[in-house]
Amino acid sequence: MRVLLSCLLLTPLLVKPAAGQGWWMTEPVRWVQTNLRETDAALDPVRHAGQLADMRANVVLMGMGGICAYYPTRVEFHYPSAYLPAGRDMFGDFLREAHARHIRVVGRYDLSKTPKPAYDAHPEWFFRKADGSPVIYNGLYSTCINGGYYRGQAMKILAEGLERYDVDGLFFNMFGNQSTDYDGKRVGLCHCDACRDRYRRVSGRDIPDKPDDEYRAFMNACAREVSKEIGDLIRRMRPRAGYFNYMQDLTDGIMSESNTAVRRPLPLWPLSASDNVNRARNSEPEKMAIDLNMQFVDYWWRFATVPREEIATRMWQQLANGGALTFEVNGTLDLQDRQAYETAKPIFRWAAANEQYYAGQRSAARVLLLGDAGGREVDEASYRGVFRLLTEGHLPFAVCDNMRWLGAREFDLVVATDGAPAQLLQYIEQGGRVLLLGARPPEFAVAPVVRTVPDLKGYIRVRDHALYPSLHDTDLLMLNGPFTELQGDGTRSLSLVPPSMIGPPEKIHVDMKDTATPGVITTTIGKGVVIWIPWDLGALYFRHSLPAHAGLFRDLVATLLPEPQLKTDAHPLVEVTFMEQDTRRLVHLVNLTGHSQTGYFAPVPMHNINIEVAGNYLRAHTVRTPGALPLRKAGARTVFTIPVLRDYELVVLE
Ligand SMILES: [Zn+2]
Repeated sequence: MRVLLSCLLLTPLLVKPAAGQGWWMTEPVRWVQTNLRETDAALDPVRHAGQLADMRANVVLMGMGGICAYYPTRVEFHYPSAYLPAGRDMFGDFLREAHARHIRVVGRYDLSKTPKPAYDAHPEWFFRKADGSPVIYNGLYSTCINGGYYRGQAMKILAEGLERYDVDGLFFNMFGNQSTDYDGKRVGLCHCDACRDRYRRVSGRDIPDKPDDEYRAFMNACAREVSKEIGDLIRRMRPRAGYFNYMQDLTDGIMSESNTAVRRPLPLWPLSASDNVNRARNSEPEKMAIDLNMQFVDYWWRFATVPREEIATRMWQQLANGGALTFEVNGTLDLQDRQAYETAKPIFRWAAANEQYYAGQRSAARVLLLGDAGGREVDEASYRGVFRLLTEGHLPFAVCDNMRWLGAREFDLVVATDGAPAQLLQYIEQGGRVLLLGARPPEFAVAPVVRTVPDLKGYIRVRDHALYPSLHDTDLLMLNGPFTELQGDGTRSLSLVPPSMIGPPEKIHVDMKDTATPGVITTTIGKGVVIWIPWDLGALYFRHSLPAHAGLFRDLVATLLPEPQLKTDAHPLVEVTFMEQDTRRLVHLVNLTGHSQTGYFAPVPMHNINIEVAGNYLRAHTVRTPGALPLRKAGARTVFTIPVLRDYELVVLE
């Protein structure tokens, strides 16, 4: 009954890497970022390269120029660090030492700020607040993406660097105009002459007081123009070098961060690295996902590290989803808090010893979770709730932020939260199976919509327990948040129970009434099937983790996908991913049991985890705790048992 399943086994699911791809796609990437300070211009290149080689890093992202140069630059308005010893070329010396140890060097530039002399000579290059004053932070003046620094002087600075040094890539921090400074203080929008002239030309308006959609689109276009110019320069001068910044298009890697911040609302997102890497690798599979693993708690405490196991968990998640293994520190590797470094070192070394499994990985998942695809921005809580449900249910899944997969990659099930783009209709009509979760109606007709209530505190009643075996111990599910009333009959599946009295206890729900309003709609469109839960199951699960919501999700998935690609009796806090390389499949397991709220501790070891996967395989072995795995055939599936899972395990299926 499943569709699009005919060529499931051992066929490449994604476009293979094209010939001539960069090192970031063909090599296993173990990426360390040392966020150098100006004082580190005096570092010992031999020692620094030696420390990186000792931990088996093979790429380092390191300060090169911009705010200060780590080499004796001769370009006007580009300033060598005052700590660069006279006659020394720290960056050049380090590059030589690194290359001698087979470590690639990605030079870091920050073009967003410069020292005062450049401002004094060319105030028109700089960001101007609404009152005309510049943005100054620790003596540095913010440049404007539309000014002559970014659009002219920066190209001269970069051309000198690229001419002098055989770098393996360049990275740009804080690319484009920032609306807040490092203290989180808002600086507003730039009112420099270049911005005002350009904005008037495209919009006919003055710079607004607050950013609106038109202004944001304008600034994105401006940043994109400069980003393209820099990309063209790099490709012209160093064709083998990679180009990295936090913008997605025009670059060679999708950069993200797994980080913490003291003001960020809880709950903490322990699947951050999986989310970032899964999303990037499956949205733009021809680019590498570089999810920077930030060791520090927040800007104010750059030298205080997050829990060791948090660093380790992010690393295993990066490997399990086919991304670069990363680790970031502030300053050099001679640290005042060495906990994160000492955690990262053995994982880097282990990944290096087993690096054949970490190059050229692609997701082999047959379930797709739509992210911000089709120009929508999905609600974060809705999305994360479903991300957790899929993870805890051990359904290998790919996240995609676009619709490029349509016609290019096959899936057995597509899950969309908080609406769905119109392009999905074509997939359904051709036989696709889709689970929609959320009150926001999709951009195609599933059922007639009566109205959407923005906040409803009621219940969903289970009318037929035979349809929902996971809900045998409950008749009611909590409903809180937006609800879309659909035409249809809910009396034989799930139905709405509207709000009723909640107190005093003598009065609780004594006026409760049932309705026929559906709490779920199942419909066929063309050759396909859609199930729509018109309320925010994802966000409810993200916030409250109610087993009833998880049970409903599980039962609906089982209806659409009776024979999932992978089945296991693993604990819900074991994350399982299913990846492929050219000749083999890889099952990764990440043990998340050490995480609780903001705490990360050593994970609790697990024993005898049974796994059944689609496909027949001849042999299998585990890599983290090395051993051969006996295989058992069950029809067109293969069954095996992992004896022990400590922090992480990799099963190689051939
Ligand atoms: Zn400006």
